[in-house]
Order: sequence, then structure tokens, then C-alpha cells
Amino acid sequence: MIWGANMGGIEDTKITAAILKRFMHDFADVTNLDVAIVGAGPSGITAARFLASEGAKVAVFERDLHVGGGMWGGGILFPRVVIQEAAKGMLGEVGVKLELTEAGYYTADSVEAVSKSTAAAIDAGARMMVGLTVEDVMIREEDRVAGVVVNWGAVELAGLHVDPVGISAKVVIDATGHDAAIARIVQRKVPYAKFPTSTGGVVGERPMWAEVGEREIVRNTREIYPGLIVTGMAVNAVFGLPRMGPIFGGMLTSGRRAAEIACQKLKKSLKKSNQ
Ligand SMILES: Cc1cc2nc3c(=O)[nH]c(=O)nc-3n(C[C@H](O)[C@H](O)[C@H](O)COP(=O)(O)OP(=O)(O)OC[C@H]3O[C@@H](n4cnc5c(N)ncnc54)[C@H](O)[C@@H]3O)c2cc1C
Repeated sequence: MIWGANMGGIEDTKITAAILKRFMHDFADVTNLDVAIVGAGPSGITAARFLASEGAKVAVFERDLHVGGGMWGGGILFPRVVIQEAAKGMLGEVGVKLELTEAGYYTADSVEAVSKSTAAAIDAGARMMVGLTVEDVMIREEDRVAGVVVNWGAVELAGLHVDPVGISAKVVIDATGHDAAIARIVQRKVPYAKFPTSTGGVVGERPMWAEVGEREIVRNTREIYPGLIVTGMAVNAVFGLPRMGPIFGGMLTSGRRAAEIACQKLKKSLKKSNQ
């Protein structure tokens, strides 16, 4: 007897039905969220893990078919990432093996870092919705961001004329990296929107300076418009901060900070609705 040889009894249409049933159920479940995170790079994945472990209903919308954003490639396509002392626990706690390469500089395998961080976020209860681009936001009473508008990434690529759909969320986190895509959408579509930056809008990222970039990314992770928090490289783009090269502690710590801010907001809105 060959192991696994008893694989018969399969009908193609049942495979189709299983995919449709399961995905429709999962998609319907994410139409009302506590937190919608846009972008499944290191900051978005980390924010998702912390929020889900606090009991928030959270989903990450990622336009690519894979998660990880810019983390897979490490530095210049050498798939290793550098983490400083202060942030090494963030990868250690999800089981990523770290090597001390130089005093204060730890390295990790980027494939291991993305895989284990993502698995930990999913295990905590976060949903990863891949292949979906956020192309707009929903703005509601009191001028607050109240959700995201999504379409298939493939529809965007093909330039098809297909309407997107809305997902409501009490808080939206822009974790789209260099693009700061959600902040830019709000800036474009809400002309009177003022961000707490030097220009009142998206300033644009500055040249590389790792020390300042890593420090400031965490300090500037915040709500920039009611209901919209920025994290990761999007922070540097919005606030005009230096980029920092392939060191990832700031991304992870910024993701965690974004989750803390979102949690505080969710607790406040829960208190209000109970009053
Ligand atoms: C050109 C380039 C330059 C880089 N420069 C730096 C640097 O200066 N400093 C540095 O630390 N690292 C740099 N990196 C490495 C790396 O990208 C980042 O450090 C790190 O991955 C950023 O993490 P993040 O979580 O902010 O976003 P990212 O890892 O960039 O992830 C953002 C994710 O959002 C997704 N996304 C974007 N828009 C949408 C949308 N509308 N809807 C849905 N999903 C969306 C993207 O597909 C991506 O997966 C660079 C990478 C590239 C490709």
C-alpha cells in the first residue's frame, strides 16, 4: 500500500463550493470591524497581532497576494533583517531566532520573521485579506474615517471598471509603507483635512538617517485625522522624517504603538456607547 494512495472520491464542483462557502463567510465577517489595517508589512502585521490579542476584531487588507511587504527582501535582496536591542523582544516573543552579530545589532532570517509574525497574528485572531486594494475611505458624521473601500488588486491592475465595496471600521490604520496611501487619499478627498504635520498634509520622506528615523517613527506614530492612525514607513512619509534602511525595530515598535493608540480609542468609544 502506497502512503496517501487513497485520495479518490473527489468532485471538482465540491471543491468550488467549498471555496465559495468558506470565503463568502470570511469576507462577510470582516465587513464590520473594530480596526481595519491597510498593508501587511511588518508594522501592519505587528499592529494586527497586538490588537487581536487584546480582543479587537481586526483584519489586514493587502493588495498583494502575499503578506510581508518589504520585509522579505531584507537589505539589497540579502534576506536577513537587522533589529536593535530595544526591539529584539518583538521578534523573540513570536519565536524568531535572533543572532547577535555585533554589539546591539541582532539579525534574523527575513522569511522566518515574516512567517512567524504572520502566524502569531492569525493565531491571535487577526484576519489577513490578501489580493485586496484599499482605494478609498468612508468618511462619516463628525468628519471621521469610518472604514475603507476595497477592490481586488487584480481589478486595479487590469484597469477594469468594477465598483468597490465598503468595510466599516471604528479605527483605520495606514500601514501602507512609503506610499502612505490612505493618508494621501484623505488629503485628496477631504480638502479641508489638516494633519498634525509641518505643512498640514503629507510632507514626504527625507534622506536616510537610521538613528533619527528609528527614533522618530515611534514618537510620531499617532492619529493624524479622526479615526486614522499611521504606522511604519507611512509615518516617515507623512511627517517628513528620514528613511532608515533595512533595520526593522522601528517598524515593529511603531506597529505596536499604533495598536496601543487604537485600543485606547476603542475603549473610549465603548465607554461612550455604554453611557
Ligand atoms: C523602494 C524601497 C525603499 C525602501 N527604503 C527603506 C528605508 O528607507 N528604510 C527602511 O527602513 N526600509 C526601507 N525599505 C524596506 C522596507 O520596505 C521597509 O522598511 C518596511 O518593510 C516597511 O514596513 P511597513 O510595515 O511600513 O510597510 P511595507 O513593508 O512597505 O508594507 C506595506 C504594504 O502595504 C501594501 N499596500 C500599499 N498600498 C496599499 C493599498 N492601497 N491597499 C492595500 N495594501 C496596500 C503593500 O503592498 C505592502 O505589502 C524599502 C523598501 C523598498 C521597496
